[in-house]
Amino acid sequence: MYDVIIIGAGIIGTAIARELSKYQIKTIIVDKENDIANGTTKANSAIVHAGYDAKRGTLKAETNVAGNAMYEDLCNELGVPFRRIGSFVVGFNEEDMSTLNELYQEGVDNGVPNLKILNKKQVKEMEPNLSDEIMGALYAPSAGIVGPWELAIALAENAAENGVEILLNTSVTAIEKNEEGFLVTAGDQRLKTKYIINCAGLFADEINNMVNTPSFKILPHRGEYNLFDKSVGDYVKRVIFQTPTKHGKGVLVLPTVHGNLLIGPTSDFIDDPEATETTKEGLQSLKEKTNSVVPNFPFHTVITSFAGLRAKVATNDFFIEESKESKGFINVAAIDSPGLSAAPAIGEMVTKLLFGIAGGFDLNLSFNPTRRPNINFMVLSDEEKAELIQRDPRYGRVICRCESVTEGEIVDIINRKAGATNLDAIKRRARAGAGRCQGGFCGPRVMEILARELNVDITSIVKDSKESYILTGPTKSNKNQEHSSQLVAVSLDN
Ligand SMILES: Cc1cc2nc3c(=O)[nH]c(=O)nc-3n(C[C@H](O)[C@H](O)[C@H](O)COP(=O)(O)OP(=O)(O)OC[C@H]3O[C@@H](n4cnc5c(N)ncnc54)[C@H](O)[C@@H]3O)c2cc1C
Repeated sequence: MYDVIIIGAGIIGTAIARELSKYQIKTIIVDKENDIANGTTKANSAIVHAGYDAKRGTLKAETNVAGNAMYEDLCNELGVPFRRIGSFVVGFNEEDMSTLNELYQEGVDNGVPNLKILNKKQVKEMEPNLSDEIMGALYAPSAGIVGPWELAIALAENAAENGVEILLNTSVTAIEKNEEGFLVTAGDQRLKTKYIINCAGLFADEINNMVNTPSFKILPHRGEYNLFDKSVGDYVKRVIFQTPTKHGKGVLVLPTVHGNLLIGPTSDFIDDPEATETTKEGLQSLKEKTNSVVPNFPFHTVITSFAGLRAKVATNDFFIEESKESKGFINVAAIDSPGLSAAPAIGEMVTKLLFGIAGGFDLNLSFNPTRRPNINFMVLSDEEKAELIQRDPRYGRVICRCESVTEGEIVDIINRKAGATNLDAIKRRARAGAGRCQGGFCGPRVMEILARELNVDITSIVKDSKESYILTGPTKSNKNQEHSSQLVAVSLDN
């Protein structure tokens, strides 16, 4: 019997799991995907928002500002990349400047620290590549950028080290309420639990409806992006937003924690909660909107595109509460933007809510808040590199040439708790395959390492989601060998 089943291993489920692991609570996270953070958490703008644009009094405003303030300590404890680089919302005319003043006031009311309105000269001094037409900007120094999937993976890994179980590749398909709590059908297992925390993102309404009368509907809202090469990673130094108008929010331009440049997202309601493809029209609209803020933008350095889906509801606020019908069932739903920024605060809020329902739990006295950071061989000193290679020669073998990732690093991240089991899981943790060639060179070698370390046949290694096979079968058979000498590969393009 579990105390808590968390459904969904995105940033929200993992932040809650890690918080619960501070107490003696028997917890399991269940996710239908084959990796942590394989839903919306892997495809977003990666901004830790300052918190000036959520309406005062909403859960979004409360948890965004509180979550933002927790980021330094959390990322230091977990060894996750986070940079507080600040953000600009740029205005081009008097109407925009008046909106920026309203945002400034909203930010002050929400408790956002150190906001300033800057004039054109100040903006251009700080960001010389922005348009000369800009009139001014709202500057929020507390905004930051983070590795979103790295944070979710680190939260899951740390939670697991502190006793939380993780069950991947397992879809929750039914929930029954009984006297003791709930019986959850997860894959071919029937799990008993006293409490359920529903963090199923785009499917949170389906999970709720398994045991409650439908009370909210998730409306998927797609955002498309382009990612650019590291050679232009410092084209802007901060997160650059456009002033929101009645025609939309515009697009943003920002550096990533890995030194790339990102533009996006588009903003379209769609019907399908799994439609993460990009569109020609969407990417074209990004180009047009970016040009108005950053003329001469280096579009020729694009390396990939992707899309993510926001889980919105009609009220446009987060939905965090215990079900009125099923005591012990907590919905943490409609966590669209700024969910990533708010996640650490949501973790604390939901833990308090659970304490209120369950009447408290004892502390986990052996809780360890820190996690050993992933090894980044190339940033080590020569002495550290030599010592590591002496200990394990696989650190002397470069597998990904674009991002300079060694075999030792890949082996390390496969063999951790919540370790990598597919190509994109390696890319998200160690960056192998994230560079200019997008895995064209290192993909086959990473597959060999995965197959060897996981002791599985190489044909079973997938790119990302469960069915995304890369090797489709033999090109010719060899009578003397059970397996073919050559395998057909499908494209590794993202
Ligand atoms: C385009 C875009 C840009 C954004 N930009 C930002 C930003 O810059 N800053 C910010 O703060 N926020 C941003 N967000 C919002 C942020 O990404 C989300 O709030 C956050 O990722 C939501 O996390 P989650 O854990 O709720 O959902 P998810 O990451 O989607 O996790 C839900 C999990 O539930 C699992 N699941 C679903 N159904 C089942 C089932 N039946 N059984 C088992 N498991 C199941 C899924 O597999 C998934 O892993 C953005 C979102 C989008 C789409």
